[in-house]
Amino acid sequence: MKSYAKELWFETSKRYELIDITGQVEAALADSGIAEGLCLVNAMHITASVFINDNESGLHADFLEWLEKAAPHEPVSTYRHNVGEDNADAHIKRQIFGRETVIAVTEGRLHFGPWERVFYGEFDGRRRKRVLIKIIGE
Ligand code: ZN
Repeated sequence: MKSYAKELWFETSKRYELIDITGQVEAALADSGIAEGLCLVNAMHITASVFINDNESGLHADFLEWLEKAAPHEPVSTYRHNVGEDNADAHIKRQIFGRETVIAVTEGRLHFGPWERVFYGEFDGRRRKRVLIKIIGE
């Protein structure tokens, strides 16, 4: 069995950002030389997510609006976590959108369903953060 790992770095200019990283995951898969297996993609920080969905800007605006209703950033004083920091909402947003995704690898390609793309979800940006890609197989 072969194994391959790569870390991607992000530093968003905004507090919240949803970034399509499908091309970077496909590049990692090509690098790995693995044709059959599994590809794990996970956020390495507890205020960011990796998830799969549609690359449609209206939907992304809906996601962020819905998350803001579920866990508003302001007022920061409403969260017990926010002692010396202000990112309790980002931890909750990450918990809702999840830490990782796993994609099947078939014949050297990410085996997606219709319209599936991989996204990095940043909920407490403006600092350097990482995503791990780990691919195993043959
Ligand atoms: Zn925190």
